[in-house]
Amino acid sequence: MSDNKQLSVHAFVVPVTPFQQNCSIIWCTETMKGAVIDPGGDIQSILDAIKKYNISIEKILITHAHLDHAGATAELSRILNVHIEGPHKDDMFLIESLEEQGKKYNFSPAESFKTSRFLEGGDEVKIGNQIFGVRHCPGHTPGHVIFFHEETKLAAVGDVLFQGSIGRSDLPRGNHQQLVDSIVNELWPLGDEMRFIPGHGPMSTFGNERLTNPYVSDFALGIDREVNEALKKQEEKRE
Ligand SMILES: [Zn+2]
Ligand SMILES: [Zn+2]
Repeated sequence: MSDNKQLSVHAFVVPVTPFQQNCSIIWCTETMKGAVIDPGGDIQSILDAIKKYNISIEKILITHAHLDHAGATAELSRILNVHIEGPHKDDMFLIESLEEQGKKYNFSPAESFKTSRFLEGGDEVKIGNQIFGVRHCPGHTPGHVIFFHEETKLAAVGDVLFQGSIGRSDLPRGNHQQLVDSIVNELWPLGDEMRFIPGHGPMSTFGNERLTNPYVSDFALGIDREVNEALKKQEEKRE
């Protein structure tokens, strides 16, 4: 058992709100310090999970400011006395409208929040001793970001990509082509083995989606990987 190396990052998913949004708790197993990603609501279930795994939460991370992802951010940050990082500043209009979104969908009261740090693509966020990369993935919302941990190949991608589907682009400031571009240019380069927790539904890997997703598989988009890789090699030779 002693040489059975424990993964440096663990995650637990708590489905919250009537939209069954995957709020995830991700922690560093060396320090037992963790982050709550996308606390949309149902605070008690989130607090129960934190207690069960005995995690010391140090921050809240937000992928995008839709109600089911961010509705309980302000309240949870007060209860846990932690700061908030994310999303990208282009979701400010959604942060400001959280109360209104709550009324519209008849959720438990939602509240606007104040982030300590808007994120950009290429930024890094720390959870305990672990560094997570950030990518800006507009298309579902303009300020959507995703988080990934290179070493354990784990990503939290919000409503950009789902198992067998992609995020809606018919909501305010959504854009279908931009969403597909985000997936192809920002997610796929992170590698086939990257497992991801989507905003809704079961986990999958980028490689599996490139094979089977009806919206963004290589086949659906007409991407020929073998040709692309051969071209890339030629280019590298030329350089
Ligand atoms: Zn959303
Ligand atoms: Zn969602």
